[in-house]
Amino acid sequence: MEEITSFKDLKLMPALERAITKQGYTIPTPIQAKSIPGLLLGKDLIGIAQTGTGKTAAFVLPILQRMTEKYPRTIKTLVLAPTRELAAQIGESFSVYGEFLKFKHTVIFGGISQGRQVQALSKGVDIVVATPGRLLDLMNQRKLNLNSIEFFVLDEADRMLDMGFIHDIKKVIAKLPHKRQSLFFSATMSPQINTLAKSLLKNPIHVEVTPQATTVELIKQYVFFTDQSSKEKLLLELLRQKHLTSVLIFTRTKHRANKVAVYLNKHNIPADAIHGNKSQNQRTKAISNFKTGKINVLVATDIAARGIDIKNISHVINFELPNEPESYVHRIGRTARAGTDGTAFSFCAAEERNFLRDIEKLIKQEIEVMDHTFHSETAKNAVGTAAKPPPRKSFGRGSRSKHKSASRPFSRNGNSGNKFKNKRKRR
Ligand code: AMP
Repeated sequence: MEEITSFKDLKLMPALERAITKQGYTIPTPIQAKSIPGLLLGKDLIGIAQTGTGKTAAFVLPILQRMTEKYPRTIKTLVLAPTRELAAQIGESFSVYGEFLKFKHTVIFGGISQGRQVQALSKGVDIVVATPGRLLDLMNQRKLNLNSIEFFVLDEADRMLDMGFIHDIKKVIAKLPHKRQSLFFSATMSPQINTLAKSLLKNPIHVEVTPQATTVELIKQYVFFTDQSSKEKLLLELLRQKHLTSVLIFTRTKHRANKVAVYLNKHNIPADAIHGNKSQNQRTKAISNFKTGKINVLVATDIAARGIDIKNISHVINFELPNEPESYVHRIGRTARAGTDGTAFSFCAAEERNFLRDIEKLIKQEIEVMDHTFHSETAKNAVGTAAKPPPRKSFGRGSRSKHKSASRPFSRNGNSGNKFKNKRKRR
């Protein structure tokens, strides 16, 4: 196949070229260069790629090119995405790249009333972008059917499985016409993902871009060993540094996300939290405030932040390390988008020490240790049961342990200068 070096080589129709030019794109990203030619020929595709690689345009552009206008409109394209935010973003991509075409799309997700979504469907659309739950709901109510689907995209399949959508996805796939073009994207590969892909695709082309280590290489990563009780103070100190202009903070739980946001606001750092218990409106508002710079700090759980495309995040801070090492890669990938570099700070308490070991194994590198006022040798050297979270206790019974006293002195060495000296230790 001839080498693709510019959008011209992809031979897209003028309406799409115009939209791309308007976006200021000049060169296709690797996944676009590798996928678009085959997709334009009608082939199925399995793509191993994370968000940030340009994968949305890699499927939206060829689908728009291959769809034909028919009236009355029928749903010809279905895209399934794991979260509302991602679905909304894909919908936005159809608007942007399809600006000079006449197709209509709608986005369908739960958490808001179905009225407007049903109304949009009844007016007729060519493209539906949906999360699985609400889509099935509407299918069961006979508000839409999938009989005329010609193009089907399953995006972020690994996250779909993580979120327990497998049965919903299978139900949707069972309703699709056999004659169709199917596209399957996942950031990671596993036997389960492979089985799902095989059940969906016919003789697909395989495209893999930016293996995890390559994306991670662009990001400056540091670990801060500290006690659980010092994390909030450490965070405050970090955020008071001026170059932390746009910071996405991750926690493992919704409760912790709220607590961190409340703590920061109390200390005059405006911050918002997004997680599954927030309404769609609250989430949209928080993301928009963050994007426009109204707030510089957003606290999120893994699922809420998944797939959100926010440019110019200067720092990702893992207030808590994820228990799945793959999530670390997803999290820090929020910074260093589209070839720029970024910084990721990870707080690691003793009980997270094993999580860090698993992460370092996955990314095949040791994360540099930052020297700081709240450094804890105990956390750094934790092994055995001390290096794991304590077993969960039943609710309401003595789950607050005394040794995690919050009244630890602020500074161990009383040094009032820059608490994050450039001096870094390598292990
Ligand atoms: P995605 O991986 O689809 O979430 O895309 C990540 C970001 O890359 C989005 O903000 C796109 O607007 C941007 N993008 C997609 N394709 C290109 C391209 N060829 N050149 C520059 N930016 C792009």
